[in-house]
Amino acid sequence: MTRVQMIGVGKRYPGRGKGSAPIVAVDDVSIDVASGEIHAVIGYSGAGKSTLLRLVNGLEPATSGRILVGDDEVTGLSERGLRAIRGRIGMIFQQFNLFHSKTVSKNVEYPLLVAGMPAEERRRRVAELLDFVGLGDRASAYTDQLSGGQKQRVGIARALATNPGVLLADEATSALDPETSQEVLALLKRINSEFGITIILITHEMDVVREIAQRVTVMDGGRAVEQGDVFDVFSDPRTETTRRFVSTALPTEPETGHLEELRRRHRGKLVTMTFRDGDVDQPVVFRALAERGVGVSIVHGGITDVGGRSFGKLTLELIGDDARIDDAIVALAKETELEVLA
Ligand code: ADP
Repeated sequence: MTRVQMIGVGKRYPGRGKGSAPIVAVDDVSIDVASGEIHAVIGYSGAGKSTLLRLVNGLEPATSGRILVGDDEVTGLSERGLRAIRGRIGMIFQQFNLFHSKTVSKNVEYPLLVAGMPAEERRRRVAELLDFVGLGDRASAYTDQLSGGQKQRVGIARALATNPGVLLADEATSALDPETSQEVLALLKRINSEFGITIILITHEMDVVREIAQRVTVMDGGRAVEQGDVFDVFSDPRTETTRRFVSTALPTEPETGHLEELRRRHRGKLVTMTFRDGDVDQPVVFRALAERGVGVSIVHGGITDVGGRSFGKLTLELIGDDARIDDAIVALAKETELEVLA
C-alpha cells in the first residue's frame, strides 16, 4: 500500500534562447494521493501533466518541492536510490514503449532481469503476469504481431512485474479505440482492487476519469487549478478549464445555437434542471408539475454516472397555462437548481 505525496512541486526548464525566460512546466503543485486511490490528472496539452509524472518516478529531478512515494523521498535521491525506488513504481505509456525485437515474454521479463531475479523465478512470474492480463497464449509472439489493446496489456504486465505499489499511466488509453479502451480500463480497475495498487493516471479523456478515478486534479499552465472528489469537481466545476472539460463528457445545457433551434421546435417555456445524486428527489419534481397540470417534454440533456453516482442536466419544455407554469417553477426551484432559459 503506497501513498504518493507531492508537496509544492515545481519544474523549470531553461529558456530556449539566450536570455529568454525559463519555461515553468510545473508550478507549485501539491497532490496527496491516498494509498489504493485512483487519481486522475487532467488538462490540455502543455498543462504539465507528463512532466509531473516524470518527476514522480524520478526520471527528471524537480526544481522545487518534495515528492514522497510511500516513506521514501524521491526528490534528492541519488541515481542508485532512484533505481531501487523505480522497481516500486510501474509506468505505462500511450505508445506502449515496448521492445519490438523481443517477444511478449521477453518484454515482460525485462524489469525482472534488471532486478536480478533468478531464471526459474522469472519464468514463473512472467507466466503468471501474462495469465493475469489474458495473454497467456501469446508469450512467444513478437509485439508487432499484436493489436493495440494487446500491446497495452503487455505494457501493463511489464509494469506490474516487480510488484509495484504505484502505477503511473500516461495517456494509457488515448491511442486505443473505444472498445479496447474499455478493456484496458477494466484491467486497471482490477489491478487497483485486487492488489491495492495506487494509480495515478494522466489523460485528456473525461470518460476515463468519470469511469475509474475517485479523485481528480485539473492542471492548467503548470498549476493545479482544481482538485477533489471526481463527483464534486465534475458536478460543480469552479474553473473555466474544468467547465470546458466537463462539457465534453456530461450532459449540459443547450449551447446558444442549439437553444435557438430548440425554440423553433418548442413553443413552451424551456428550463434546465440540474440533478445531483442524492440532492434531488425526481418523483417530487415531476409530481409538482403534474399536480399543477403542467405538461412536460424532455428536449435536451440526460443523466449519467460519475464516480458511481448519478449526475445530469435536463432541459424541459413546460407546456400549459402561464400562471401555473410560473407557480411550478417556484416550487421546483426549491427542489433543484433550476434555470429558466431566456
Ligand atoms: P502535458 O503533458 O500536459 O501535455 P508537458 O508536461 O508535456 O504537458 O509540458 C508542459 C510544458 O513544459 C510545455 O510548455 C512543454 O513545452 C514544456 N516542456 C516539457 N518538457 C520540456 C523539456 N524537456 N524542455 C523544455 N520544455 C519542456
